[in-house]
Amino acid sequence: MLDIEKARRETPSCEHILHFDNAGASLMPQPVLKAMKDHLDLEAEIGAYEAADRKQDSIEHVYDLLAQFISAKREEIAFIENATRAWDMAFYSIPFKRGDRILTATAEYGSNYVAYLQIARKTGAVIDVIPNDKSGQLSVEALKNMMDERVKLVSITHVPTNGGLVNPAVEIGKIARKANVLYLLDACQSVGQMPIDVKEIGCDMLSATGRKFLRGPRATGFLYVNSNVVESLEPPLLDMHAADWPSRDEYIIRPDARRFENWEQNYAGKIGLGVAVDYALGLGLEDIWRRVKGLADRLRAKLSTIRGINVRDLGIEKCGIVTFTSKNVDAQIIKQELAKRGINVTVSTKVWTRLDMEARNIESLVRASVHYYNTEDEIERFCQAVCEIISK
Ligand SMILES: *Cc1c(COP(=O)(O)O)cnc(C)c1O
Repeated sequence: MLDIEKARRETPSCEHILHFDNAGASLMPQPVLKAMKDHLDLEAEIGAYEAADRKQDSIEHVYDLLAQFISAKREEIAFIENATRAWDMAFYSIPFKRGDRILTATAEYGSNYVAYLQIARKTGAVIDVIPNDKSGQLSVEALKNMMDERVKLVSITHVPTNGGLVNPAVEIGKIARKANVLYLLDACQSVGQMPIDVKEIGCDMLSATGRKFLRGPRATGFLYVNSNVVESLEPPLLDMHAADWPSRDEYIIRPDARRFENWEQNYAGKIGLGVAVDYALGLGLEDIWRRVKGLADRLRAKLSTIRGINVRDLGIEKCGIVTFTSKNVDAQIIKQELAKRGINVTVSTKVWTRLDMEARNIESLVRASVHYYNTEDEIERFCQAVCEIISK
């Protein structure tokens, strides 16, 4: 069982703020913050390159931790400055040609969809959106029926930015594997709140960020690329970290996933990311997941009893993201009023997930995202505050 008291002691700010924005940026636990500060101090004291040399072992160890975290191999991990760029490096390395199909989900993240549009325009590839089933998750049956020899990529958001839905990543993986089609998973909102096993999922590429449920620093992220496909994927950008320059007219791209990295990195952030992964592994992802689901279910149930509040989460399995709208009060106003009471949430707007929001005719919704260090008492206080705000 998780020691919630300890987790809260190691997150001192949760004493004075009620943080339900773990899908935006979670609060970093103290060991993460300390590791970063220590590294910055060391850089100031002896020089940044010298600090990186001295800390080389812990910096390299970040790859082992990330690999262990998602059941990959260390050479399948790239450290990248955010999830969007990690995803881009994977996506833009796929050689699309006219008529190739990209299959994606209704809950797809806005930035990903913009990239599909750009590639469709440039290459003549086509985007096909897999419909949802009755529960609101991606329809596995529909995906099966859409597969044909023109499908080049299945590209899915595991947990959307705008709701509690968890798409059936493993089922999707089975279909992609059977058809021998590339499978890219945006796991930005799922890593850190649930166990992720890339072998079980069967994805070829997976992108994630540090600052969300993983509780790491901002501007850190990572990319997983299966070693079976990595050498067939040429990064859209190269530098002298990603490739060797052995002679004037020659370059050789690295054989591992670090071909997707670039040379200059935020070492304090990278070290902090490693500590965040270590911290999560120490607590145990199964226990974290059970706790997060329990709190989120409780929050949904409680919110549903408030007259005028509409809980909006889709799907069969639901996660730590809880979304709702009010009949009378705009989501932005609710956020502002909550902020006055020391409560942090996000407003998720249409453009972040346009296909889904248009289909459901929603302009914006309040996103309250819980983590294991949150408490039942905070849920009570949160719901009371929402009640007050909408009945004013
Ligand atoms: C937040 C988010 C991203 C982008 O992550 P960054 O680290 O900000 O680049 C991508 N996909 C989903 C589903 C997200 O929620």
